[in-house]
Amino acid sequence: MNPMKNHALDEVPFEIRFDPLTGETGRVFDLPFKAERPDLSATIERSRKQFCPFCEDKFEKATPLFPKEFLPEGRLRVGQALLIPNLVPFDKYAGVAVFSSQHYIPIEELTPEKMYDVFMACSSFVKRVAETDPQTSFFSINWNYMPPSGSSIVHPHLQVNCGEVPTNELRAQVEGSSRYQKENGRSFWGDLVETEKESKERYIGEIGTTFWSMNFVPFSFLPDVLCVFAQNHSLASLDKDSLRSFLDGLSRIIAYFNSENILSYNMSVFSTREEDFFRVNARISPRLFPRAIGNNDMAYLQALHKEPFTVRPPEAEAPKVREFFH
Ligand SMILES: [Zn+2]
Repeated sequence: MNPMKNHALDEVPFEIRFDPLTGETGRVFDLPFKAERPDLSATIERSRKQFCPFCEDKFEKATPLFPKEFLPEGRLRVGQALLIPNLVPFDKYAGVAVFSSQHYIPIEELTPEKMYDVFMACSSFVKRVAETDPQTSFFSINWNYMPPSGSSIVHPHLQVNCGEVPTNELRAQVEGSSRYQKENGRSFWGDLVETEKESKERYIGEIGTTFWSMNFVPFSFLPDVLCVFAQNHSLASLDKDSLRSFLDGLSRIIAYFNSENILSYNMSVFSTREEDFFRVNARISPRLFPRAIGNNDMAYLQALHKEPFTVRPPEAEAPKVREFFH
């Protein structure tokens, strides 16, 4: 009995969706929500006053080196980007790749050119690990852009993880893809691309060998984006053309976020070593403080129940994102 409608009987419809790959559920609402443009200027200002290990004058002294046996030069440099060990190593091999000496890169400036060096550095790192250590089978390249996404350092950087034990998400993807291939004799990823292209409900576009759509079961408060590297089985054998296509698409997703007042996001690129049934894929999730109080966009449901919910259906966002792919 809704007080906004004179206590008349009201309904709030929502869907419980099952992910076709993993079987995991998520809840999808269609609520009136429009993100206010956040003012991150105070956060950026504060970060300039705090110690930043990635700024040029501190970098040499404040950041660790890889052992000579693994990397003779200690740090991996590609153009403007530098890759160093992660002081919080989330995996057997864990690197942090800093974009450049620029402390703050506004969202408008995240062009494919500006992202190329740092992604190449991560890709080279994965290749080196894969060649050095045949035990490593799981790889990921990850990005928290700006503090609302969990990042503690404003200075833009990626995190690259390689190891023998997959994360829960990557394990679910691997098990799901393997099971699907056994049961159907076809690749899940090929079928997903075909189905999404045909239905058009969530389809965004294709760039080179990369396929883009909204996720059927979003992980975030606002719908998130899927990219399938249709021809890449592993980050350990990623080619430059596929990387360029991915960055072209990623920059368009970022531009769409910006147009929706989303100035922060998480991104992960998931990969195995080399499995026929698997494709490299990425998820890019908007992150925000939804209400004026400044609350986090994840609460007990995501943190304790491991159950995501979204306030807007992915299908409602797809046409808007598609505009950025013309
Ligand atoms: Zn800095």
